[in-house]
Amino acid sequence: LATDPVLIAGNHQQKKWFYGRMNDGDLAAFCLTEPGAGSDVGGLSTRCIRDGSDYILNGTKQFISNGGVAGMYTVFATLDKKRGYKGHCAFMVDRHTPGITIGPPEDKLGIRSSNTTQVIFEDVRVPAKNLLGKEGEGFKICMKTLDLSRAAAASMAVGVAQGAFECAINYSQERTQFGQPICKFQTIQFMLADMAMYVETARLLYQKACSLQDMGLPFTQMSSLAKCWAGDAAMKVATDAVQIYGGYGYSKEYPVEKYFRDAKIMQIFEGTAQVQRMVIANSIIKG
Ligand SMILES: Cc1cc2nc3c(=O)[nH]c(=O)nc-3n(C[C@H](O)[C@H](O)[C@H](O)COP(=O)(O)OP(=O)(O)OC[C@H]3O[C@@H](n4cnc5c(N)ncnc54)[C@H](O)[C@@H]3O)c2cc1C
Repeated sequence: LATDPVLIAGNHQQKKWFYGRMNDGDLAAFCLTEPGAGSDVGGLSTRCIRDGSDYILNGTKQFISNGGVAGMYTVFATLDKKRGYKGHCAFMVDRHTPGITIGPPEDKLGIRSSNTTQVIFEDVRVPAKNLLGKEGEGFKICMKTLDLSRAAAASMAVGVAQGAFECAINYSQERTQFGQPICKFQTIQFMLADMAMYVETARLLYQKACSLQDMGLPFTQMSSLAKCWAGDAAMKVATDAVQIYGGYGYSKEYPVEKYFRDAKIMQIFEGTAQVQRMVIANSIIKG
């Protein structure tokens, strides 16, 4: 996600610098969300002001994955909030630039091994050569980035769903009640059958989004279909996996409670399930 703005809008020198640093072991983080601007990306208020050969950045980014461990950031800011989307700019920022501070790690429900923090910019001087594309192109770069990343987010959700599904299959064959394995009960069988449908359809959707992308065809709608369906599928499958485990599914002794907690974020980050439905509906109506 963090690397895509550079891929989309970076010139040769910018790519060399950013990917060179990553090649040397730096992680990257994508800094878009703010305390007051989540789904409403257009409402971001981190300011960027041109000052000689630099821009000066001020603002707070919220829920940044890798925020505390990345060496490089891609950051979205506005020249003037009144200009709306047209005022947005995208930058590559070195984490060690003076004026950047990192908030404490979020104490999260799931994906707890992923570092999530605020990243705060106070009078941070960023060389103008780190501007990606032109002034005012930030929103376009951001939307293209999210288009690209949604199929990958969907594939993560499929991984969660697949893991929960496999646990549920195994457990249903091992656990006996009323003198037989619980997989002999039709209600359990139907839950497993539904899980198989969710996992396979989610996988096919993200693969279709990727193949459209590879063929150079429009893929925005398919990426959102994949992200939305796979996120919902992960939540549904993980919930049913906990159900198949009964009380043991609620215990940290077994893996499905972790899948259940990890699944929820798939409906939230990189555009919530509601935002995906808005993208899909808009593309259907516009044709
Ligand atoms: C663990 C984690 C990691 C994250 N990583 C990153 C990251 O690396 N970089 C980054 O920039 N951001 C990151 N985010 C932020 C994430 O993308 C946002 O949380 C998400 O986009 C939603 O924004 P919000 O939390 O402000 O919710 P809000 O936008 O306030 O939404 C609240 C609710 O209202 C709904 N809603 C909002 N607008 C509408 C509408 N117009 N119509 C219908 N429903 C609507 C939403 O769907 C949601 O259900 C991360 C978040 C988390 C929790």
